[in-house]
Amino acid sequence: MKLLLATRNEDKVIEIKEILKDLEVEIVSASQFPNMPDVIEDKDTIMGNSIKKATECAEFSKLLTIADDTGLFVAALDGKPGVYAARFAGEYCSYKDNRVKMLKEMKNVPNRNAQFRTVCALVSSDGLIATTEGIVEGKITEEEFGNNGFGYDAIFRADETGRTFGEMTQAEKETISHRSRAFNKMIPIIKKYIK
Ligand code: IMP
Repeated sequence: MKLLLATRNEDKVIEIKEILKDLEVEIVSASQFPNMPDVIEDKDTIMGNSIKKATECAEFSKLLTIADDTGLFVAALDGKPGVYAARFAGEYCSYKDNRVKMLKEMKNVPNRNAQFRTVCALVSSDGLIATTEGIVEGKITEEEFGNNGFGYDAIFRADETGRTFGEMTQAEKETISHRSRAFNKMIPIIKKYIK
């Protein structure tokens, strides 16, 4: 049985394959379908985008498909960038551009509370099966710490460890991350479905 990860982002594929490694399925990613059209992530919620990604990729591939969408919600910025985390610094910006913009917007801001939230959607060719959510609480740092991970990892200090995701190994990040929490909730649902 194959399970399609509806993403071409190799950083995410590495993390997700590790989280799902005990499932008795062959995990394939969207990169293995060069002709599959890119999904336009134009919904205004992470739930909407994750369902859209999984649905379009399941329709194209005819495979059981899982998609995730993540947002970074910063309290002092009224929840921004939220669902628009990838494009915070502009349409074709890099991860680094986003971090630089975030540190600038948060300069001298006392309330540094932030949340990563991931929604996962599991879809078969018959339609939506389930969604799950994972949340991790933290603070936006004043500068970058650590070189691991991707995206905002170097400026997000998790409350549970007191270190940024950039300072944690992938295995450490996985014990508390928004993404692993959402995917771990999905594991029993996938097991039940494939039985
Ligand atoms: P996506 O919806 O999972 O593609 O995530 C949207 C954006 O959020 C990404 O482009 C990253 O900038 C950021 N992001 C998602 N997951 C993480 C993470 O685990 N660490 C740091 N940044 C992340």
